[in-house]
Amino acid sequence: MNSEFAIIGGGVAGLSAAIGLQSINSDFMLFEQSALVKGIGAGFGLAANAMQALDFLGLKEDIEKIGHHVSTYNILDQQGNILLAPDTNALSDQYKQDNFTIHRADLHHYLHSKIPVEKIVLNKRAIKFTQQKDLITLYFEDGTQHECRYLIIADGVKSPLRQQLIPSSAPRYAGYTCWRATIDNSDIKLNKGSETWGKAGRFGMTPLVGNRVYWYACINAPAQSSKFKNYTISNLIEDFKDYHTPIPQILAQTKDKDLIWNDIIDIKPLQNLAYANILLIGDAGHATTPNMGQGACQALEDVAVLIDELGHKEDVIAAFQSFEKRRLARTKYITETSKFIGEVAQWENKPLVFLRNTILKKLPSKFTQRDLQKLLSVDFMKINT
Ligand SMILES: Cc1cc2nc3c(=O)[nH]c(=O)nc-3n(C[C@H](O)[C@H](O)[C@H](O)COP(=O)(O)OP(=O)(O)OC[C@H]3O[C@@H](n4cnc5c(N)ncnc54)[C@H](O)[C@@H]3O)c2cc1C
Repeated sequence: MNSEFAIIGGGVAGLSAAIGLQSINSDFMLFEQSALVKGIGAGFGLAANAMQALDFLGLKEDIEKIGHHVSTYNILDQQGNILLAPDTNALSDQYKQDNFTIHRADLHHYLHSKIPVEKIVLNKRAIKFTQQKDLITLYFEDGTQHECRYLIIADGVKSPLRQQLIPSSAPRYAGYTCWRATIDNSDIKLNKGSETWGKAGRFGMTPLVGNRVYWYACINAPAQSSKFKNYTISNLIEDFKDYHTPIPQILAQTKDKDLIWNDIIDIKPLQNLAYANILLIGDAGHATTPNMGQGACQALEDVAVLIDELGHKEDVIAAFQSFEKRRLARTKYITETSKFIGEVAQWENKPLVFLRNTILKKLPSKFTQRDLQKLLSVDFMKINT
């Protein structure tokens, strides 16, 4: 055997799992297909629940230094009127954690810096595994192999290893495509985050540390559309020209070379996350659409719960089973709720949009906070079964 644990994938899930295993003195190796551990040039939100998980892993204070504190994140209509205004400050006070946004590259760089270099092997794309008794053999694209006792699959939504384990778990397309970029904030001077629901699609923006702005735009589209594949900033400027400030200005400042384009996909909630000595974590186990900003947050919750279980149980397979009990319902709720929010947010039918916006504007703030409250009111660290 080459290592006790093997982790496949050096994203948020895999890197934080490596840090967690190291903190409980477990023997592991992490394999990443890319030549570098780097997040793409975009940001994401780390909600209070993610900060709670980072706190458990002993990483919260460092992350707060490289994150941008978020106090408001409103949903707006195309003219900039407020549709939904969850009071994130009240929730932060209640749950004793703040919400942050962070640049992915900053987060990946930080997590990577906490892992000894000899524990990460780059340029290693896992293509399959075999199981013999309690030993797992991993096979890589370059013809090499690695033997381990326990396998943590953290290689993202398209995970080839998950699809070997569960052939019916191919990603599903959400019906909308997304562009993202990070730009300089000197001229825009954006100081709060928001998401706008309008007739061309959705546009979200938030400040990041280092005087940067992260933005994303989602448009309804067929899967892998060649039209959208060739889209440039000038196309997006045309689509979003009637949106409130500073959306047209943000787009005008973005360069084509900085655009990141993806169709939005998730996976149908799985029946299991633990398969004897194999565990699925992060997007590999429960990829969700980004509408609740919870994908990476759930990956961090996964790792906190996993390390909690491994720290309390001698038997790793029993720890994997307890992990599944604590994680399955919560991640399923997020995948399904996020899918529903995305469908409503991407409505194009004019009467339906009018009805939706009228109702949303009239909702009391207590109601608009319901989903956030539900997310945060569950102490995911304390569901010990
Ligand atoms: C538009 C958009 C916005 C988002 N916004 C947010 C947000 O605001 N907040 C939030 O919490 N989440 C957000 N997410 C979700 C978040 O990006 C993901 O949930 C998170 O990155 C998942 O981390 P992961 O480590 O599980 O997977 P990944 O980040 O996909 O990492 C998987 C890693 O495995 C590697 N890999 C893949 N296959 C192999 C292989 N065969 N062998 C070896 N290595 C392999 C990859 O190179 C990669 O490094 C957003 C997602 C999108 C698309």
